Amino acid sequence: MVMLMPETRINSVYLHDLFEELSDIGATRQGGVHRLALSNEDLEARSWFAEQIEMLGFALRDDDVGNLSGVLRCSNMNAKTLLIGSHLDSAPNGGRYDGAIGILAGLECLRVIKERGLDLPFHLEVIDFTDEEGSWQSLYGSMGLTGTLTEAHISDSKTDNAPFRAALNRAGINPYDYLNARRDPNSLLGYLELHIEQSDFLEQNNLNIGVVSRVVGRSSFKIRFIGEAVHAATNYAKKRDALLGAACFITDVHSLAQEFAGGMVNCGSIDIQPNRVTIVPSYAKVKMEVRHPDPATLAQMEEKVAEIAKQCALHHQLEVRVERTLHRDVVYMNDTLMQSVESVCDELNLSHTRMVSLAGHDAQILAPFTPSALIFIPCKDGISMNPKEYTDWSNVENGANVLLKTILRIAEQF
Ligand SMILES: [Zn+2]
Repeated sequence: MVMLMPETRINSVYLHDLFEELSDIGATRQGGVHRLALSNEDLEARSWFAEQIEMLGFALRDDDVGNLSGVLRCSNMNAKTLLIGSHLDSAPNGGRYDGAIGILAGLECLRVIKERGLDLPFHLEVIDFTDEEGSWQSLYGSMGLTGTLTEAHISDSKTDNAPFRAALNRAGINPYDYLNARRDPNSLLGYLELHIEQSDFLEQNNLNIGVVSRVVGRSSFKIRFIGEAVHAATNYAKKRDALLGAACFITDVHSLAQEFAGGMVNCGSIDIQPNRVTIVPSYAKVKMEVRHPDPATLAQMEEKVAEIAKQCALHHQLEVRVERTLHRDVVYMNDTLMQSVESVCDELNLSHTRMVSLAGHDAQILAPFTPSALIFIPCKDGISMNPKEYTDWSNVENGANVLLKTILRIAEQF
């Protein structure tokens, strides 16, 4: 009689217990979490994570940008490291799954592999990246690890970053030691991230797993309209109302999402002066962004943003200044790793598709540095960064098993 080895799977009950414990840290009345990077709640989540790592007998590692890891070392001390990660910080009043699932599933993978006594041909490291959400500097931890941080990120001449530096210091992180956090890419085998989709593509198409092929490119702008502050009673022909220019821009620029299929536009912030009900606004600053999965199309969208801003300024007799404040290139995930994830999904009888991520993730910073894969599970109604964020637990279980089997597949093919 052939003895069948019990199949290697994650322990769903154990993983769920971890999820409940972590969700209690920074829990909000609405059912979400508020764990802004480097806040008391985030620091509590990090010390909870460190405790789990130590309780499970893994090596605890941290670096000079505050990334926190648990490492399961293999017997070959010179082996490379496979990173699995995401983030423990949340958006303001955010959801319980965003980021957390990637960390907890990663920790569970390490636990199962250790429990089985498997000696992988690489070290396995589950990592929490500091401030993915950008309470201070988005993707700070992953940028630190990949050596893409610059001094301007912590000591900007335009913005006073002193509160950020104070928050880092309070967390025991010396802001000026960030260069020490850079890892040697030759010491890494790759990076895997499991994340909730944050949109409804998988749900709408009734699919279990999304294998992200690329992350959209993104450009952010500050558009400043400058008019003249005069009394509200001034003759309309003589008014140069900066807020009307901004309103024209906001209304018109959204048409780019229709004009360029697959594109996204968001105007998320506006600041006006003098901000008095009896005075025509002399100044309006709109902060907005465009995203697209194709680099050439994104460049076209950028040109159109500037064109629309100029047209609206002209129409309302205003000056306008268009400043691109951030640009992130379209990032491609590693094809070999994508194929491994797909073959694992087939083995587990999970439906899957290749897809574009419309949201930014640590994986987009890691991908140009080390072979990376980003695995999505469905998100109910596509609602994320919100206390209502939800996914059926079976989706988390599926995603965690895909993560585990992908690690084992990489080991087989090593
Ligand atoms: Zn996230």
